[in-house]
Amino acid sequence: MIYKIITSLITIITIAFIISLSGCVGEKATENPPQKASLEKLNESNVTTTWNLSFLYGSRDDATNQQVNKDVLFQTSTIDALLEGVYDGDTTFGELKKHGDFGLGTVNGLDGEMLELDGKAYQIKTDGVAYAVNDSMKTPFAVVTFFEPDKKLFLNTTMNSSQFPDYLESKFPTKNIIYAIKIKGNFEYIKTRSVPGQKKPYPKLVEVTKNQSTFEFHKANGTIIGFWLPVYMKGTNVPGYHFHFITDDRTAGGHVLEYILGNSSIEIDYTSDFLMELPGTEEFYKVNLEEDKQAELEKVEK
Ligand SMILES: [Zn+2]
Repeated sequence: MIYKIITSLITIITIAFIISLSGCVGEKATENPPQKASLEKLNESNVTTTWNLSFLYGSRDDATNQQVNKDVLFQTSTIDALLEGVYDGDTTFGELKKHGDFGLGTVNGLDGEMLELDGKAYQIKTDGVAYAVNDSMKTPFAVVTFFEPDKKLFLNTTMNSSQFPDYLESKFPTKNIIYAIKIKGNFEYIKTRSVPGQKKPYPKLVEVTKNQSTFEFHKANGTIIGFWLPVYMKGTNVPGYHFHFITDDRTAGGHVLEYILGNSSIEIDYTSDFLMELPGTEEFYKVNLEEDKQAELEKVEK
């Protein structure tokens, strides 16, 4: 009898203990909801950052296995070949889209600035208008990836194009991998450019950009898409930032020269794989790519 009473007492105490424990956990959970717990603490009160904790360095293999090469930067040709006037490539947009739904570049004949967003490609010509690109058209230089953000930030303030690059770099976990960047929001100001289509014999890009058309937008809703690449990629692509812009109604845009960001969401896709496909064309085979062209690149990007 005494034994039974003791056993019942122990059971009651155990149950009470479990209930009180789960009560504690429940309370804790209300105090610190999962989303709050994953927020990065920042000094700037006007910026909110959310980390996707599943993607920290070292987990690249997991990401590649699960996503079947979605974190690959694919590019056709090299920026130095474009600087040298190799304006015709052999990659169609149909082919390009198999490697990504997000990216930038140009179209054959250097006929404007190209941007791909949500799997649709646009060509912004020197009239500033965005035209749809069809899959049979070709590109001499393009960079794409499948955009899957690993980090999200929200900017509740204004920041201009001399402040924002350093700010964003300070959020990168390393300067040794590739970042695809999407900035969607209201732009207080944005200045873009486009380049005129060329006829053979093609001049060098530094000559073409002397005749570039520029466009200014005020209080425009749109999306900047682009990349940040490590310095060691010079020669093959543009080190640092390269941004193209398109308005929300998909009617205008261009290669970004200056901007003032307003309220905007910033998404970053960490990318550790790189695939470069070189044109099998006579022009590409013959062009001299042995010299350093960083000084020329500086001129054409501005
Ligand atoms: Zn560009």
